[in-house]
Amino acid sequence: MIRKTFKKYCLLAKTVDNTTVDRLMGFDFHARSQEVLLITEIKWQARKENRLPEFPSRRFKLKNLALYPRELQELLNLKTAMCPLCKVRLNTFHLRESHKVSVPGNIELLDLVEKESIKRRRLKLKKKDNLKVVGNLLRPYITSIKQVLSL
Ligand SMILES: [Zn+2]
Repeated sequence: MIRKTFKKYCLLAKTVDNTTVDRLMGFDFHARSQEVLLITEIKWQARKENRLPEFPSRRFKLKNLALYPRELQELLNLKTAMCPLCKVRLNTFHLRESHKVSVPGNIELLDLVEKESIKRRRLKLKKKDNLKVVGNLLRPYITSIKQVLSL
């Protein structure tokens, strides 16, 4: 149920596999709950020692905060669409074997997006620019799928 809601919230197609969705959800929840826990702990410590709480530097908080560009959602959806040429559901394997389009698997895509966006957040790139750069890394895959399938 929660998966269904999450998919809707992220505009992911119903056909995107559960492993990918769980990974996206887990990351999101994990990062948020970690942060809440940490803040609670800091506040509690400060109260105990009767001083004002000191919150960690931004850098520390950014540790888990990957950004997910719109292109990721587009690519994940595209990868599970119906193949208009073969009338079967697309996946990484079908794209490669039947259409010679090499696109990384979903987990690899998530790894890539997380690694690249976190890296740029650490360099303090603006969120908007970060999303743009990371999104552009996925663009060629989207373009080649669309081209081959003439979508
Ligand atoms: Zn096909």
